[in-house]
Amino acid sequence: MEFVELLGHPEELYNLLRFKMGGARKMMPKLDQDTLSDGLKTCYKYLNQTSRSFAAVIQALDNELRNAVCIFYLVLRALDTVEDDMTISMEKKVPLLQNFHSYLYQPDWRYMESNQKDRQVLEDFSTVSLEFRNLAESYQVVINDICQKMGHGMAEFLEKKVNSVQEWEKVWSRYAKKLSDLAKPENIDLAVHCLNELITNALQHIPDVLTYLSQLRNQSVFNFCAIPQVMAIATLAACYNNQQVFRGRVKIRKGQAVTLMMEATNMPAVKAIMYQYMEEIYQRIPSSDPSSSKTKQIISSVRKQNLPSCQLVSRNHYSPIYLSCAMLLVALSWQYLSTMSQATEEYVQTGEH
Ligand code: MG
Repeated sequence: MEFVELLGHPEELYNLLRFKMGGARKMMPKLDQDTLSDGLKTCYKYLNQTSRSFAAVIQALDNELRNAVCIFYLVLRALDTVEDDMTISMEKKVPLLQNFHSYLYQPDWRYMESNQKDRQVLEDFSTVSLEFRNLAESYQVVINDICQKMGHGMAEFLEKKVNSVQEWEKVWSRYAKKLSDLAKPENIDLAVHCLNELITNALQHIPDVLTYLSQLRNQSVFNFCAIPQVMAIATLAACYNNQQVFRGRVKIRKGQAVTLMMEATNMPAVKAIMYQYMEEIYQRIPSSDPSSSKTKQIISSVRKQNLPSCQLVSRNHYSPIYLSCAMLLVALSWQYLSTMSQATEEYVQTGEH
């Protein structure tokens, strides 16, 4: 199925092949396992089990940053796993979340009652928290500074009552009395209207994202920040005005993800990608949608702000005829590769991580 889908997107097929044949290695230099402590090796194992795209960008970071971000990611993943677990009662969950920071300093603390997919980090939290304490020791000043700033940020956040749950409730309550009503098939139109409003809200942040990315100077940090952003806009475009969001899972194609990962390495390319997906959304705005004028207005204003530097960059580097020939060639190579020896197959698989 995935292969058939790819035939409609030949450039993705080409990029998938390029990625598997070495592009991945170039983007994510193989971790030097020998220099890692056993604890860190375990941390990277968990990282690769939890998120493919985050694991990729984290492992592409420069040396010193890589371990720190990996550990922070796992700590936050554990916290989020508790938060997302709907099988934990509120009486248990609230104190768990409030005291979570103190568990980092309790060498034996772990949590065995989660039913979430990523529970392994919670079940072996002592390994992660030990690495955290080691890290905290060498970066005491920096961590204190970050914690203090985050503390101030949180206070400000609470003061302004910018609560994401409340904000989200404000939106969906305009479309249904109960959130679960939106999951009912008879309310599908309302549900899609609600979805479109949420996506429209998200689009407002694109100018800030572009400003932030344009100020990054380190290439590995740029990739680390840019890749999730382009994946996000591609996902927003896939979900926009799509009933399938309420019937199953909407995910971007693997070939699309790989193409984005390889392209989003500089500012003009990121702008061009953002642009392309915004245009895709723009073309699909239904006139009957309650947010349609707001969606149009936001996209037009982002367009105006960034147009001068974006016009020069086109993402369609291939002519249709060239693509058709390349598609056939790549399809044949793909088949050839798929049936090659076990050793090659293993290599191709490790290239994905
Ligand atoms: Mg969560």
